[in-house]
Amino acid sequence: MVSERKKTCGYKNRTDVLRAFPSEQRCIEHLEKMRWPASISCACCGSVRKIYHVSSGAAYKCADCGKVFSVRKGTIFEKSRLPLQKWFVGAWLLTSRKNGISSHQLSREIDVTQKTAWLMLDRLREVAAAVGAVKMPFSAKGGR
Ligand SMILES: [Zn+2]
Repeated sequence: MVSERKKTCGYKNRTDVLRAFPSEQRCIEHLEKMRWPASISCACCGSVRKIYHVSSGAAYKCADCGKVFSVRKGTIFEKSRLPLQKWFVGAWLLTSRKNGISSHQLSREIDVTQKTAWLMLDRLREVAAAVGAVKMPFSAKGGR
């Protein structure tokens, strides 16, 4: 836990974060690795037997229950349409600053409305409180 905590702030600045997660696909891959370090499990029934990739890797289909789900399913990102990259930068901003960040600041930093920023912070803080800031959404420096 302690060593993980250290790694979290491995990003020195926003450019670092963006370099590590240059595209939505990279963000998805990272989230995938974090959620399912061993093998992908169905977000609906929990089955790990057979999960197919559908729609160019952005979604999965479970052979057991037939449900299609995305990597966001069951996470704080589930109901959001924002690119994961903005979430990652937002999470980094929130956890890397000693005094956190206000919704006002965040809205300017990642170019979303203040309302969106407020909702994001609300969810991010919830996760931070539950699992510790370390886990969201990067536990390590991308493993690279
Ligand atoms: Zn299933």
